[in-house]
Amino acid sequence: MSTEKNILVLNCGSSSLKFAVINSTTGDTKITGLAERLGSKEATITVKYKGNKQVTELTKNNQHLGAIEYLVSELHANDLSDSLTAVGHRVVHGGEVFTSSAVITDDVIAAIEETSGLAPLHNPANLVGIKAAQATFPSLPQVAVFDTAFHQTMPQKAFMYAVDNDLYNEKGIRRYGFHGTSHYFVSREAAKHLQQQDDQTSVITVHLGNGCSICAIENGNSVDTSMGLTPAEGLVMGTRSGDVDPGLIIYLMNQHNYSAQQIDNLLNKQSGLLGLSKLSNDCRTLEDAVFGNDEAQQQQAKLALDVFCYRVAKYIASYTVALSHLDAIVFTGGIGENSNYIRSQVISQLSILKISLDEQQNELARFGNAGEIQATDSQFRVLVIPTNEEWVIARDAAQLSESK
Ligand code: ADP
Repeated sequence: MSTEKNILVLNCGSSSLKFAVINSTTGDTKITGLAERLGSKEATITVKYKGNKQVTELTKNNQHLGAIEYLVSELHANDLSDSLTAVGHRVVHGGEVFTSSAVITDDVIAAIEETSGLAPLHNPANLVGIKAAQATFPSLPQVAVFDTAFHQTMPQKAFMYAVDNDLYNEKGIRRYGFHGTSHYFVSREAAKHLQQQDDQTSVITVHLGNGCSICAIENGNSVDTSMGLTPAEGLVMGTRSGDVDPGLIIYLMNQHNYSAQQIDNLLNKQSGLLGLSKLSNDCRTLEDAVFGNDEAQQQQAKLALDVFCYRVAKYIASYTVALSHLDAIVFTGGIGENSNYIRSQVISQLSILKISLDEQQNELARFGNAGEIQATDSQFRVLVIPTNEEWVIARDAAQLSESK
């Protein structure tokens, strides 16, 4: 019998399943993996354990349950299954019902089902993962950790759209915000770094990955964030447009006969860095193109990154409005943690706020290295902090299942 206490963390997409087994005391990751193209003949599962990576085709059962069954056999083979004490699930939308993580009961499942209309691609997939995990681990407590929960402290002036109030009262249409676990985690890490109490720390957290969002955190609480009813609002992202004039949608529908499906595709899958550059949604590829020799590609990539960085800088400046004081701006996410180029382009547009970078420190804070990267005469600190959403999920799952 194992003496370790480990949590299985599951993050289910419509055709994917990411997982990790994390020690709930130390935060060490034991095993990680990703099942992709679930439901198709090409379904595979990749498992990383002790530095080895192994890719296997899921031929027997190519659904989420099949991926979980495979995962269970891997846990058995590596003596990890006895050590599991709970399962933590990432759930995208918790609506206004969930202001924090919750032990999964029939009522919690019903409430997640009820909010599925607000996240039709994500919540049903999360529920598939929950039900598959319940079937596989009937004796383990299951905990849901919501992307939206951290933002439930936003004041009404920040979460209301200026549209007919009935839409909020009758249909729940408002801004919810996402990436909550990441904004929460890096804001707490920032407080630790600054040696301040969480509830006295005010930061602007900038999560730049494939999805991008920014959050104003006043004394530990989210008071504004850039994603809205759906994760499409706000910053420019890998393939999502972020903010556009709502008139653009009406124009495309009326003048160019776009269907709702085509608009959805355009704004969520063919826009952002990919749409602007016509090259890639991947920031690394675009940076390579900017510094490469192909002039046409250079221009396209530069345009995409310029629009991306200008939007981030504009949001940072506007979020100072939401705060009574600002202890630091915090960069995180694959781009925020690794791209000194993007950080430099963003901060250089904030000179009116007297923020500037030490470019040497900026270059050093990459590839998992946290750091403080502002220049000595900068009015505000700028931090780089790697995010760890899985750890937040594991910790919440451990705490809630123990206090149950
Ligand atoms: P997700 O939102 O899917 O979790 P990530 O947070 O992993 O995504 O971020 C993916 C993005 O991070 C991609 O655009 C990728 O190009 C970018 N990225 C990763 N490493 C670097 C790097 N060294 N320099 C620039 N961008 C990077």
